[in-house]
Amino acid sequence: MLTEPITVLPGVGKARAKLLEKLDLYTVQDVLFSYPRTYKDYSKVLTPREAELGQTGLYHGQLLNLHEKQLSRNRRVITGRLVGEGGFLVVSWFTTVYRPGFSYQYRQLQKAKELWVYGQVKEGFYGLEIASGEFHLKQPKRLGLVPVYPLVSGITNSMRLNWIKFALKRLDQISECLPREIASKYMDRHQALKTIHFPANHQQLAEARTRLVFEEFFLFHISLGVLAENKEFVVHQPDGPLTKQYFANLPFTLTKGQEAAIRDVRADMESPKQMRRLIQGDVGSGKTVIAEYASVKAIDSGGQVAVMVPTEVLARQMYTRLNKTFSALGIEIALLVGALTPKQQQQILAGLASGEIPLVVGTHALISDNVKFANLTLAIVDEQHRFGVRQRVALSDKGNADLMVMSATPIPRSLALTIYGDLNTTLITDLPAGRKQVDTRLIHPSRRDDVFRFLVQRVKEGEQGFIVFPLVEESEKLEAKAAIQEMELLSKNQLAEVRVGLVHGQMGKEKDRIMEDFYRGEIDVLLATTVVEVGMDVPNATVMIIENADRFGLAQLHQLRGRVGRSDKQAYCFLIADPKTEQAKRRVNVIRTINDGLKIAEEDLKIRGPGDLLGTRQSGEPWFKLADLIEDQPLLEQAAQAARKLLSEDPTLKKYPTLLAEVKRQQP
Ligand code: ADP
Ligand code: MG
Repeated sequence: MLTEPITVLPGVGKARAKLLEKLDLYTVQDVLFSYPRTYKDYSKVLTPREAELGQTGLYHGQLLNLHEKQLSRNRRVITGRLVGEGGFLVVSWFTTVYRPGFSYQYRQLQKAKELWVYGQVKEGFYGLEIASGEFHLKQPKRLGLVPVYPLVSGITNSMRLNWIKFALKRLDQISECLPREIASKYMDRHQALKTIHFPANHQQLAEARTRLVFEEFFLFHISLGVLAENKEFVVHQPDGPLTKQYFANLPFTLTKGQEAAIRDVRADMESPKQMRRLIQGDVGSGKTVIAEYASVKAIDSGGQVAVMVPTEVLARQMYTRLNKTFSALGIEIALLVGALTPKQQQQILAGLASGEIPLVVGTHALISDNVKFANLTLAIVDEQHRFGVRQRVALSDKGNADLMVMSATPIPRSLALTIYGDLNTTLITDLPAGRKQVDTRLIHPSRRDDVFRFLVQRVKEGEQGFIVFPLVEESEKLEAKAAIQEMELLSKNQLAEVRVGLVHGQMGKEKDRIMEDFYRGEIDVLLATTVVEVGMDVPNATVMIIENADRFGLAQLHQLRGRVGRSDKQAYCFLIADPKTEQAKRRVNVIRTINDGLKIAEEDLKIRGPGDLLGTRQSGEPWFKLADLIEDQPLLEQAAQAARKLLSEDPTLKKYPTLLAEVKRQQP
């Protein structure tokens, strides 16, 4: 059976199974659905004469002039010439074997008259060269495209090839999951699975890939749709007394964007369908107000609210902020974090289960099984790009709750469909009135002291500031040490007259305390290794100094800068850097000249590509195995459309049991 554990594969015992876990392979089926990372192109045997700069291929010729050259005490290079049809290629390999002539490669190569070498052709000292190519003394048995799989030490590519062959024998247990009329447009599933592992040629590989990429997108969109269908959702009451009081208490007038967002949320919450709304607005646009409004409205209607944020520090901050608002309304709210005593924790869990606690703020701990609600009607997820789709669904599934997601990370339109494909979007495009653009300047390191003098002056005027430095050391320990040293230097010299606090990655509880002190104004200047990146709201802070600014990514720089300029006071961002590489220069320049987060995100996408932007690493959720979110954009749109159409005709997939089964298999 395909669902059997991986130990049924030939040559896989307990030890290897353990290694394979690192590759996320647990069952035979996993092996089948774990695709090659790339392919070696053995489809054509080339002659040295055909070699072209930059081209990767399998070259065949006679091996001449084999010799070894000493580079240092135990490093030598083996070189030779691959000759054929009047052309030649230099081939070379490095070895670290101490005795001359004793390396494995040298002993092998000595036997060779003719040789097959696979590698990329580069410009060498003596002409075109393949360095450290894979070599064969006989013509490789498998010509064509050879799959290359992700490996860990102890697992070889040829082992994986064997296991794939084994798994492919059980292909008949896999059924076509796409509806017939859709499947007919693409290669069928069996063929595609066979082909992706053992493609006959590029053309077929491309067809197989198209089919499987479409399938990934299609299943993804179907799963988003299915998850939300067929549930009874609460209809929240029209704005009641609490809500009115909330508006009356607001110390400012709402921006146009906030008003529009509130209108959208109101309509969603009062409708019998589930609200699934993304509130996207640049840092400082005032998204928290929308969350507060929705919460008050839910509580006004007798429901409970869960607010999920990515870290404990942010949970605390969010709690402090919401607590101000809610205590003014006479409502007690709770904070659920790891630092609580078991007794406190029990109390909160009991209060949530009984319905006594109307609102809780927490991290992803909120989605763990022991958290139960009497009547959760609203789930709010802040800074969503750190969570995955499944996590936000898990939260709203704690009740049949409306879902609101807030994101400050602007995402180019091209990617939004994927990450937020299941959400309706409200964009807040304006900032609260009176906000001045953050004055952003690039400062050469030699003028660093001027910046600190400026900072001290601002502090004397009653304002606060951040100094952020990037991770430069290899280990966190070293990093912490460097940070502490820096703090000591600064507080003895440039910053002697002000109160300085430090937070870094190696700190435990103390970090929260210091952030809290800064929040309350008991610390003037916060030194940090990037933890202030997301969500921190200290309107009194007006100076952001970013050391070695060229080492940060664009999104980070924008987030960091967004920590200041949160009041009507003029704010400043100093990028201390002397960028050397083209990319770094580009980044620093973008941030210096552009303030609009969306434009910055687009520049970012150009410079970096989509992977990092999606923040998939943080969320820990595998997105797509094959699909490339940029290249495969047209397929993504086709798949999303097809999924939507199908769901509108058959929302529960009654007529498509295999499709439903496949969606469930992938989203356990
Ligand atoms: P973000 O969208 O980055 O989460 P916040 O909700 O933290 O923004 O708001 C940033 C700051 O602006 C907060 O200090 C908040 O109190 C303030 N603020 C929000 N809305 C307004 C408004 N309409 N007028 C003035 N200040 C506002
Ligand atoms: Mg925020």
